Amino acid sequence: KYAVTGATGKFGRSVINYLVGQLEQGELVALVRNTAKAAQMLPQGVEIRQADYNDEKGLEQALGGIDRLLFISSLPSEEHSRQEQHFNVIEAAKKAGIKFIAYTSFPHADQAQSPLSADHKATEQALATSGLNYSLLRNNWYLENELDLIKGALTGQPFTYSAQNGRVGWALEREYAEGAARVLLSSQPKKIYEFSGQPLTFKELATAVAAVSVHQFEVLALDDNEYKKRLVHQGLPEQVAEVFIMIQTLIRNGELAHPSKDLEEVLGRQLMPLKKAIQEATH
Ligand code: NDP
Repeated sequence: KYAVTGATGKFGRSVINYLVGQLEQGELVALVRNTAKAAQMLPQGVEIRQADYNDEKGLEQALGGIDRLLFISSLPSEEHSRQEQHFNVIEAAKKAGIKFIAYTSFPHADQAQSPLSADHKATEQALATSGLNYSLLRNNWYLENELDLIKGALTGQPFTYSAQNGRVGWALEREYAEGAARVLLSSQPKKIYEFSGQPLTFKELATAVAAVSVHQFEVLALDDNEYKKRLVHQGLPEQVAEVFIMIQTLIRNGELAHPSKDLEEVLGRQLMPLKKAIQEATH
């Protein structure tokens, strides 16, 4: 049996929709914290089990009879330690006798410096000492992370960033999700996958957006201070604006700039060309 955590999230749903076409009835289990929500949004034939990242015992029960687990990282939040949540999943997996875990991590998490990578680094270390058989799916950025920026530009608003010439390996979230599903099904998975699109700068992203836009828009390479001021002026809470700046900083520092063909190799095809991907994501 195969199971997927966070199955009601965007990534989880995309994985489930792919797997349901690959597996037999009864082989696929969705692990969710809200079973009513899951029953509404997941396809027929998927077994739904309640499992909260904060509840190790409940996770262990939910993992009963599961052989292979896709462990989708939790969302950072103020209420809970994501690291503790992840350790709960690993402990539960050990106790439930899971044979293989694939974990969605951060690009080059072992060397990454950004605060965003810290939980992933700790989780990778916990997996390494767990005795479990595992693969790391180190996902670069979903193109969908830039949806507000892109949609704004498509309506003629300025395209703003402060990452200078830092590069990002954007690909569609569904492409990462399919890559994750394929690794889960693989009989001989690698230990580490650096899943990424071709690393591009924000300026190159803006050029691709302009090519599919009916409106013209300005492209503004700002410094962090100006960028933050603009974000707050647009109504973003100060703390959220700071997270944006943290992300622009890690991009400027080259943390998302490592090229890799792993995703294309696992998918067995080229990634969606950027202009088409922009059209799909903004549709
Ligand atoms: P979503 O916000 O769409 O989904 C998050 C999922 O986590 C939901 O299913 C949610 O359940 C579930 N969840 C949250 N808290 C708990 C909990 N305590 N116990 C069990 N489940 C919980 O995020 P995505 O699917 O888009 O992203 C998945 C993960 O990928 C993120 O959590 C994040 O770690 C990472 N990510 C990576 C990005 C990248 O660019 N590389 C960008 C964005 C995220 P519910 O439906 O009940 O709320």
